[in-house]
Amino acid sequence: MSLDDTLARIDADLPQATDRLLDLLRIPSISTDPAYKADCDRAADWLVADLKSLGAQAEKRPTPGHPMVVGHIGEGAPHLLFYGHYDVQPVDPLELWDRDPFDPELQETEKGKVIRGRGASDDKGQLMTFVEACRAWIAVNGKLPCKITFFFEGEEESGSPSLVPFMKENAEELTTDIALICDTGLFGDDTPAIVTMLRGLLGEELTITAASKDLHSGMYGGPAMNPIRVLSKIIAGLHDDQGRITVPHFYDGVPELSDEMRAQWQGLNFDHAGFLGEVGLSQPAGEQDRTPLEMIWSRPTCEVNGIKGGYTGDGFKTVLPSKASAKISFRLVGQQDPHEIRKNFRAYVENQLPEDCTIDWHEHGASPAGQMQIDHPAFEAARVALSAEWPNPAAYVGCGGSIPIAGYFKTILDTDAMLIGFGKDDDQIHSPNEKYDLTSFHKGIRSWARILDAVS
Ligand SMILES: [Zn+2]
Repeated sequence: MSLDDTLARIDADLPQATDRLLDLLRIPSISTDPAYKADCDRAADWLVADLKSLGAQAEKRPTPGHPMVVGHIGEGAPHLLFYGHYDVQPVDPLELWDRDPFDPELQETEKGKVIRGRGASDDKGQLMTFVEACRAWIAVNGKLPCKITFFFEGEEESGSPSLVPFMKENAEELTTDIALICDTGLFGDDTPAIVTMLRGLLGEELTITAASKDLHSGMYGGPAMNPIRVLSKIIAGLHDDQGRITVPHFYDGVPELSDEMRAQWQGLNFDHAGFLGEVGLSQPAGEQDRTPLEMIWSRPTCEVNGIKGGYTGDGFKTVLPSKASAKISFRLVGQQDPHEIRKNFRAYVENQLPEDCTIDWHEHGASPAGQMQIDHPAFEAARVALSAEWPNPAAYVGCGGSIPIAGYFKTILDTDAMLIGFGKDDDQIHSPNEKYDLTSFHKGIRSWARILDAVS
């Protein structure tokens, strides 16, 4: 049987696939609210039953929080793992929803048909694209082309507290040739994307103390060191005139973008002016020789997220404060080592401290960037397969934020993850009236079938 038969089967089965998704969407699996614990359990049971209907060995696995669902099916190389999450965000403010968030329906809109309901896009609809692709494949071919492990989490929207321990305890079972993660979006409406870079994050909080107590500027103004002045000078020096970060060795491990990747990104025709214009800005403030897309995806940052010191209430007070503090974060890329950067940053700041000032540090997390090994043949196979399904060719893209699960596959299981998703910017995930375009769902299923065909 050919891929075309499987795609035809997917087209014919779309109404039933949509009904199955609607069924799953009716379960209010809000992971953060203990009142919905039984519903989270019910969503896990629903998925176990659905995987079993495909012929998979599937079970609900307990954790201290909500259960994981793990299933295995098929044989042969490569061994693929598919990750998605069945929990959803809370729904308030409920009054902003046009209908009950857990009474989902297929709606006709100006921009086409959408599946409306909490979790439609994040992540039940996306999760089911892969399950439905497997279902159609089995219906046509009798079995899947390779071994597949399903791994569904129920705590993604509440910080994934059980994920790392579970992955460590079940490392052997969850280690595969490649992990597929479906929880991201398209680039624009017609361009599929494979996320291959995720920025890491380092958080630091520092407090500079000068005098032993707050002073009056009429009495001490002049001779007394003001810690706000010290802090401001240090912060002002963290970037040079070209927008580069001045911390020594900060750029160690920052890879240069390959010509091929740069060309791909240029081909995306990203609307730089519109991107900034949307938030009332016009000038990119990062490194001056980089495009905004590079600044977000492939370059590191240093940002001051908050400053505190002195009198900030109404009115006026001529205080010389004893302390001033700041919260500073770094987004990291490539092989930048968060612990090295922390060490170098602290030394750099401490070297600038004048006499009579002391500094206290408080750390707020450190996670390295994720950089996928795209020379693994599955990446290019998936990119070509996606390009066949969508109007525009697929692109390898970066992600300015952090998606911890991708990093865990790498650090715990030494497995590269392919992040492929079909969400759209206007899906209103985490907000009222969440939706998933029926075309995202349909083409998403077809995309996975093409990818299965291409990688196996
Ligand atoms: Zn999600």
